[in-house]
Amino acid sequence: MRILLQFPEGLKQEALRHAKKLEAEGNEVIISASPTFGACDLAIDEAKKVGAEKLVHFGHAEFHHVDFNVEYVPYLIDASLDMLPESLKALDAFRRICLMTTIQHVHQLDSIKKFYEESGKEIVLNRPNGFAKANGQILGCDDGNVMLLDRNVDAFVYFGGGIFHPLGALLQTTKPFFIVDPFRNAVENIDSMRDRYRKRSRGKVLASLKARNFGILVSTKNGQYNMNLAGILKKRIEGAGLTAAILVSNTLDFDSINNMLEFDAFVNTACPRIAIDDTERLRKPLLSANELMEVLKLVEESESKESGNRALGIRKP
Ligand code: SF4
Repeated sequence: MRILLQFPEGLKQEALRHAKKLEAEGNEVIISASPTFGACDLAIDEAKKVGAEKLVHFGHAEFHHVDFNVEYVPYLIDASLDMLPESLKALDAFRRICLMTTIQHVHQLDSIKKFYEESGKEIVLNRPNGFAKANGQILGCDDGNVMLLDRNVDAFVYFGGGIFHPLGALLQTTKPFFIVDPFRNAVENIDSMRDRYRKRSRGKVLASLKARNFGILVSTKNGQYNMNLAGILKKRIEGAGLTAAILVSNTLDFDSINNMLEFDAFVNTACPRIAIDDTERLRKPLLSANELMEVLKLVEESESKESGNRALGIRKP
C-alpha cells in the first residue's frame, strides 16, 4: 500500500525510522515535509496528489471525521509525577480541583487523580466540549466545560508542558489556575496572564474602532475551514456600512498578510488560537469573531449617539 506519513514538528526527527519500518512490512512510504498544527491540519491534499491510499498522522488524536483513510497514531508520554507532592503546597488552600491535561498524558490522569484524592482533594475532570475526545483532555481549541466548572471548583490544575494548552482554559475561568510542569519541574500559578490577555483583547477592539476595511481570514485546513462564519461576518461588517473581503489560504503567512495594506483590521475564522497567540505578528489588529462583534457594537453605538446629537443640533466640541 502507498502510505503518506505526517508528523508534527516535535516528531519529525522520528520520520525515517517509522518509514523504514512500514517499508519493511511491504508498503511504499512517502513522508510529508509540510508543517502540521494538529489533526485539524491533515495532509489529505498531499496524500491524494501522491496517490497514497492512506495517511498516517502521528502525534494527535482524531479531530473530526474526514473523507479519507486516516490512521491516527497518538504519542503518549509517561511524564514524571515527582512534582505532585510539591504541588500540594501551592494547592493547600483549595479542596475541589478541576484537573486537565493533553492527549499525551491522558493515560496518566488516573494516577494523578488518585494521588490528589489520597491527599484529601476532590478531583473533577473537565468534559470535552468539541474536538477533544477524553475526559480531562484539553486542546488549544477545546477547553471542555471549564467555564461551567468555574462556579463549582476552587482551583484548576493543568498537568503538562508549555502554556499553549492551558491558556485557552485560563481565559475561560476566574479561579486560581496552576500548571504542574513535569518537564521544567515547576509548579506555577498563571493567574496574572488572564489580565494581560484581556487587556490585549480590549486594546485590539479599541484600535479597530476607526477601521473601514476588514480582511476575513479563512484557512483551507480540514479542521479550521469555516467559510460559513466568514460569510456571516462579511455580511455583518457590510451591514454596519463598512467594507470586508474574504482572504483564503492554507497556512496563514503573516508576512504576506502584512503586505495587504488596504486592510485596516483582520478577523480570524481559522484556528481560534490565532487571534490570541499570533496578534503581534500582524501590523494591523487581528480580531476574533467575538472581538469583531464588540467593535461593530461600539461603532454602531457611537454612530447612533452622533446622529442623536445632530438631530438635537449638538455639535462636537
Ligand atoms: S488549537 Fe488550533 S491548531 Fe490546535 S487542534 Fe485546535 S484548531 Fe488545530
